[in-house]
Amino acid sequence: MAKKYSSKINKIRTFALSLIFIGFIVMYIGIFFRTNVWIVSTFMLLGLLFIIASTVVYFWIGMLSTKTVLVTCPNCEKQTKVLGRVDMCMYCNEPLTLDPNLEGIEFDEKYNRRGTKES
Ligand SMILES: [Zn+2]
Repeated sequence: MAKKYSSKINKIRTFALSLIFIGFIVMYIGIFFRTNVWIVSTFMLLGLLFIIASTVVYFWIGMLSTKTVLVTCPNCEKQTKVLGRVDMCMYCNEPLTLDPNLEGIEFDEKYNRRGTKES
């Protein structure tokens, strides 16, 4: 089975979103301990920290987005963002590279699902 890969920005976005959820879950757990002020405060603070962390990550995505290059995916022909020298299409997970020298090199082992043997 080939592992699932997604583009870097999508990955970071998922990470930021899960941080928000973790933050809310932690805060929610804190409510069950409302008899103890200290435990509630600890949970609330922890939950708040997660949410702050996620805003930082979202901010980071914004910074990264300015560095992305808009390319048209050769596979699905949609416009996608490439971050760094190699990234994946946001829509079809097609590996993309901006550096022709890296073509097929960095993706050789990870993306053998494509399995088209060069002849
Ligand atoms: Zn694509």
